[in-house]
Amino acid sequence: MSTPTSTIRMASRTRTMIGSIIDSSTALLASQKHDIVRFAMGAPNAELIPTADFDRLLGAHAPGRYDYGATEGEPELIAQVQAFQQRLGIDTEPERLLITTGGMQGLDLAFKLLLDPGDLVVVEAPTYTNGIGTALSYQAEVIEAPVDADGMIVEDLPDIVARAGRAPKVIYTIPNFQNPSGTTMSLARRQLLLELAEEWDAVIVDDDPYGALRFDGEDVPAFAQLSPGNPRVVQVRTFSKILAPGLRVGWVDVDPALRAKAIDAKQAMDTCTSVPTQRMVADYLSEGLLDAHLTRLRGVYRQRKQAMRRIMTAQFGDDVTMTDPQGGFFLWVALQGRLAALDTQKLFPVALRHGVAYIPGPAFAASGRFGNALRVCFATSTPERMADGVARLAAAVDEQVAP
Ligand code: PMP
Repeated sequence: MSTPTSTIRMASRTRTMIGSIIDSSTALLASQKHDIVRFAMGAPNAELIPTADFDRLLGAHAPGRYDYGATEGEPELIAQVQAFQQRLGIDTEPERLLITTGGMQGLDLAFKLLLDPGDLVVVEAPTYTNGIGTALSYQAEVIEAPVDADGMIVEDLPDIVARAGRAPKVIYTIPNFQNPSGTTMSLARRQLLLELAEEWDAVIVDDDPYGALRFDGEDVPAFAQLSPGNPRVVQVRTFSKILAPGLRVGWVDVDPALRAKAIDAKQAMDTCTSVPTQRMVADYLSEGLLDAHLTRLRGVYRQRKQAMRRIMTAQFGDDVTMTDPQGGFFLWVALQGRLAALDTQKLFPVALRHGVAYIPGPAFAASGRFGNALRVCFATSTPERMADGVARLAAAVDEQVAP
């Protein structure tokens, strides 16, 4: 991405602001006028958003709905989030919860409170680069840990850290149905990561927007379940993927001392998260609608994941390998064989012209690796649309590899 130069004297931290590589692909996508099958954005499709309930609840009268709210969040929503966390198996209390303006603000707050310039952050490779963008904006340095089918390869961390020559202050992980790989960190690795965080005096930033969207297999206990009340675990959560991203409502579940500072920091950012939206989400939860909605989503996403894998395999056979996520939104596709040399960034505009969009692999690593991989979101499209999209992808690939 090119950054415009300016004669204005900007803060040194602007030099480490990377902007969103993911969003620049989606901005290009948004400017297209022809029909495009969208495997790019990690967002639920319109038909999976309970808009009728939202409209009804937003219209309900409640005094103070349009006033400023408490920075930590509306008490009704905090109570509902506590109950929801409990249903997911995580004991918490209102003193640990802070409502945020989406998961991004949770990440921004966490990194703002934890990182000084030059501090080291371990990140997964590939990872959600918008997340590490927040750490970089506080002038942190990132080091990459590889990911396999069981999530971050935590056993490799001692060597990686030894090579870096100093201990990390933060370990940033997306443990469930990781964005972009779809993989889930195994129990043994979670336990080892907790031990390493202790040894290094580091904090685990546990970014988990997708954990409630498990459609196959058994839940793996969260860090907070393995080590209840551990102040080294910062849980960042959001309603974006389980309700709707435009709500911009999320939460963090943290040690009360950190929460107190986070409230101060949030006060200086946006005073409070939108009050009408918070109350609408609180009412949605208090009417008991979320659990039924999640059950529906899980069924739809299971079917869509299976369809995507089936269609990709039928189309590309051994020329691709794919992850097999048990939840969430994403498949990570690596090109091999006859397609091994294909560059998914160069393929992207060709695919757009053919009417299909995905996110190229290099968008998911600060180092720009993964040129022969791509992320596919299976959550947005019906199986019929997917078949069209994959056929268009194959046409784009053929155009690129044709002699
Ligand atoms: N973390 C991860 C891993 C995500 O995938 C996303 C959204 N794509 C976020 C955080 C940000 O969530 P929100 O949209 O609620 O800010």
